[in-house]
Amino acid sequence: MRAVLYVGGFLYRIHRLSAFGRMRKLQQTVHTLEQHTSFERIREAISAGKTTCADLVEHYLENIDKTKDLNAYLEVYADEARETAKQVDKKIVAGTAGKLAGMVVSLKDVLCHKDHGLQGASKILDGFESQFTGTAVQRLIDEDAVIIGRVNCDEFAMGSGNENSAFGPTRNPIDPERVPGGSSGASAAAVKADTCLVSIGSDTGGSVRQPAAFCDVVGLKPTYSRISRYGLTAYASSFDTVGVLANSVEDASIVLEVMAGQDDYDSTVSRKPVPEYSKLLGFDKKVKVAYMKETLESEGLSDEIKEKTLAKIEALRKAGHTVEEVSFPWLDYLLPTYYILTMAEASSNLSRFDGVRYGYRSPNTTDLESMYKKSRSEGFGEEVKRRIMLGTFVLSASYYDAYYTKAQKVRRLIKDYTEKLLGEYDFVVLPTTPTTAFKIGSHAKSDPVTTFLEDLYTVQASVSGLPAISVPNGHDQNGLPVGIQVMAGAFKEADMLAFAKYLSTL
Ligand code: GLN
Repeated sequence: MRAVLYVGGFLYRIHRLSAFGRMRKLQQTVHTLEQHTSFERIREAISAGKTTCADLVEHYLENIDKTKDLNAYLEVYADEARETAKQVDKKIVAGTAGKLAGMVVSLKDVLCHKDHGLQGASKILDGFESQFTGTAVQRLIDEDAVIIGRVNCDEFAMGSGNENSAFGPTRNPIDPERVPGGSSGASAAAVKADTCLVSIGSDTGGSVRQPAAFCDVVGLKPTYSRISRYGLTAYASSFDTVGVLANSVEDASIVLEVMAGQDDYDSTVSRKPVPEYSKLLGFDKKVKVAYMKETLESEGLSDEIKEKTLAKIEALRKAGHTVEEVSFPWLDYLLPTYYILTMAEASSNLSRFDGVRYGYRSPNTTDLESMYKKSRSEGFGEEVKRRIMLGTFVLSASYYDAYYTKAQKVRRLIKDYTEKLLGEYDFVVLPTTPTTAFKIGSHAKSDPVTTFLEDLYTVQASVSGLPAISVPNGHDQNGLPVGIQVMAGAFKEADMLAFAKYLSTL
């Protein structure tokens, strides 16, 4: 009974998420980082004989070493990266190199890479190594990208601050007292700290876009099913997408075009042809853009982020685009819907971690049942356990209709509304996050709901399965980065990327 009251009360709080107050004002001096380069410039430098892939790997390895305190990398494949770089350099000379020759990439610890460790930043996968390479990663390797290491994240991608990792939090390179966002926080930090050119993350409810905003980089979540999920550790399968963190829209585009497309190993992946996104970034037309009144009126939105979003909206108007305010009646229902459904899916997906076949097994067990219970109790962290319990609860016979079925219905309403909106307008523009990066430890552990609020603006695209991108939109008074988000219709990545690039220049 107590358990029911606990989860019931908790779900009620999730339900009330809309009514939250403004987060604490942020004050901190911001560290300035050296300018980052782009893949195009890297390619030019390679062609001009000014650098080699081997030099680039050394450069990143040095930076990884210099920025160790960020706790971004869980493993660095130094020797292997050096060796691959040598091979790529030979191919470049021979004129047989792939599209991504010269690109050095890190992988979030949820992506399978054969014979390399994979833990989902969880103790329960202690010592686990992937037996195969996932499709997205394989396609990068086939085009001669060099994988430099595996980076930290929230445990099984559950979180918004990278604080839920069994390996400890990752720090934001702009201000190490603060989180880099989550769950692909270390991916964003790794790119910002110039320890790799691009990082591959995953976005279930904002995990690529929100850290991108917190770390001043670009974060791209494609349409659900655009990129194969084969080899992506499942969190909530009807939401999960592979995503990209990069310094520029151009870099994100080329990586997307390599990773996307049909795959025999994932029957849910779209068979739609993949455009050459990186060649379609020109933008010279007038478009129709909507912004949702409720997103800007939300109490939790920081004044500065609101002003910066409105400034971009004004700039679009001035440039002759049609920009209109619309009403989004479901804002208050976004987070409850997202969290009920993802927890339900997670409780099922994570049942495979049972201590029997791989990963952590408790040494203190007496029989089969205690082996399951202790391995899972000791192996999973607090947040993951809470979600498994809540997910099991909303799927239980007595509460299934009240929570799971209802949330599915609301998901449909949100999806229908958003799709209709994107039928009438080319793009929707909204803030990426309600606040800038918060301090490590500032969200009380006993109150995970405060952290859920960070996802207020990112989950709409996830619930609807639509593509979205976060691009930098200046800094607040404390020098902390702010992001702005663009959402587009399903499979409209090419248009969205071109528009996002244009928006960054306004
Ligand atoms: N913060 C959200 C969550 O914890 C999003 C996570 C994600 O996109 N992987 O569910």
